[in-house]
Amino acid sequence: MLNLNGMTARTHDLAAITALGIVVLSQPVRTVTLATAIVAVFANLIGGITPDIDQPTAPLWRNLPVGKYFGKVFDDFTGGHRFLTHSLLGLAIFGFAAHWLLIFLHPIMQSVNIGLVWWAFMIGMLSHLVMDTLTKEGVPWLLPVPIRLGLPPIKAFRITTGKALETFGVFPALLVFNACFYWANYHKLLDILHRHLV
Ligand SMILES: [Zn+2]
Repeated sequence: MLNLNGMTARTHDLAAITALGIVVLSQPVRTVTLATAIVAVFANLIGGITPDIDQPTAPLWRNLPVGKYFGKVFDDFTGGHRFLTHSLLGLAIFGFAAHWLLIFLHPIMQSVNIGLVWWAFMIGMLSHLVMDTLTKEGVPWLLPVPIRLGLPPIKAFRITTGKALETFGVFPALLVFNACFYWANYHKLLDILHRHLV
């Protein structure tokens, strides 16, 4: 997948699901419906790639017949890649929109806890901004204040996106982290799957 301006969608999906796992397993166990769990995972993955809808080449647009055109319009509207959708302001706007969309959709999915789905979406979006913060370009977290923040603060130590370090460093590191994390939390995970998914 060609992606010149950010980490790949694959990395963002894995980061989103990783973040969701961390939050779920660090919270007190709560009982949720299977429908809630499934919808929450999808919302989380969508949240994980949502900030990149400001790229005309974003997967979301590319798969639509008029995608190129809409991508371009959206691109101009949000100020190009890594602008509005990559900021706390953008997070708030999308959070607000997702809130109302879920309220609108609730009648057709009544067994779904839309509050938890909303959190899963937001965790996905936030994980995207955190991951992009690790790249050379940084993230304009504080828009409209036009400064790009990155970690570590010294640019040379950050990740160049799309390069080998992302493919062979970041992605496997996330996989290894997940393996260790789920191993460490194995009993809690089993408890959730056996007794708290209804
Ligand atoms: Zn991005």
